[in-house]
Amino acid sequence: MLVVHKYGGTSVGDLERIENVANRVAKVRDAGDDVVVVVSAMSGETNKLIGYADNFTKTPSKKAMDMLLSSGERVTAALLSIALQSKGYDAVAMSGRQAGIVTDDEHTYARIESIDPTGMHNAISEGKIVIVAGFQGVNKAGSVTTLGRGGSDLTAVALAGALKADQCEIYSDVDGIYTTDPRIEPNAKKLDTISYDEMLELSSLGAKVLQNRSVELAKKLGVKLYAKSSFSDNEGTLISEESDNMEEVLVAGVVLDKNQARVTLRGVSDRPGIAAEIFTLLAENNINVDMIIQNMGTDGSTNLGFTVPQSDHENAKKIMAAFDHDIEGMDFDNHVCKVSVVGVGMKSHSGVAATAFTTMANNNININMISTSEIKVSMVIDEKYGELAIRTLHEAYALDK
Ligand code: ADP
Ligand code: ASP
Ligand code: MG
Repeated sequence: MLVVHKYGGTSVGDLERIENVANRVAKVRDAGDDVVVVVSAMSGETNKLIGYADNFTKTPSKKAMDMLLSSGERVTAALLSIALQSKGYDAVAMSGRQAGIVTDDEHTYARIESIDPTGMHNAISEGKIVIVAGFQGVNKAGSVTTLGRGGSDLTAVALAGALKADQCEIYSDVDGIYTTDPRIEPNAKKLDTISYDEMLELSSLGAKVLQNRSVELAKKLGVKLYAKSSFSDNEGTLISEESDNMEEVLVAGVVLDKNQARVTLRGVSDRPGIAAEIFTLLAENNINVDMIIQNMGTDGSTNLGFTVPQSDHENAKKIMAAFDHDIEGMDFDNHVCKVSVVGVGMKSHSGVAATAFTTMANNNININMISTSEIKVSMVIDEKYGELAIRTLHEAYALDK
């Protein structure tokens, strides 16, 4: 069997933990399996490097940032290979380039375009344990690129796909996917299985346990994905195609996204093309707009609201100034969050949204915005009620049972 393991920042947070990972990998090898290991930078390392650059300028070149940030993962990969070699195992550390990962040119948020697994296959056939620095690749011009925050998860899934591995196991400090972040709700329950689609919603809506792009790719390539803990031998959670009995479960989980800011535009000229102009300009400035609501226009004007990531809030403010003549007033609120309820069971059961709204009402929490899809209900609320909302929703759907 060929397995890909990925160990995140906390799992390789210090030398003792790297030793722990080396022991875990050695055990898999002793059992006779081939193993490719993807590692993150030691926890806090990527942020520390960003802080160093920040010292000089708030707008460093993205190409230089990739050169800087990719170093964190390389340190861990090298140290893990050394730890394994010291135990008598034949291990080789590889950069993204050596692992054959070619990306586009979008520095700091590159997409993987192709993987040539020959180098890894050769090493495996020589009996080596292959250790790959996560989160990075190289563009066609030969410059190092990184894959966006949390991108080592993506490396692991992409390698599992390219190597046709039997499974991909993502190790972190939690032993699987829970009904909500166990740091917010200690009564959260671990799920044995969850569908790709539910996991993709949870990740995209703020659950950082798996990077959303990695889940998307796992679904596309049909990679058998597990979330497990590097500190225990517990079962973990299998993320896979939706099965019939999954729909019996109404709600799989609830999730909080604190990284939200709300923009409200009042008295917007109610004419064809205005929405196109506003959202095109935001898109051209790489601002990711999430929820959008627009009222029915009256007397030639309408109200328009949308959310953006908090980091884009100031930028959105500046851009909206261009529409002064078309808009009577603007409000910007940085103190909002988004709470979401996710479950494939919603497709076949009604009342899930009503329960969410009733729960907010019972707790006197005002809902600013609502959006729904086939398998999720999201609400924007005041940031200070975010954790309360998650705990009461968790109870309302009996997720602790
Ligand atoms: P790593 O550094 O290994 O990549 P992360 O910190 O990115 O690990 O992800 C693990 C964290 O995800 C956990 O510590 C947990 O607090 C958080 N988390 C958020 N939502 C969930 C969830 N639904 N289930 C499990 N963990 C979650
Ligand atoms: N080290 C990178 C980050 O902190 C990538 C990762 O850990 O997956 O975002
Ligand atoms: Mg992570």
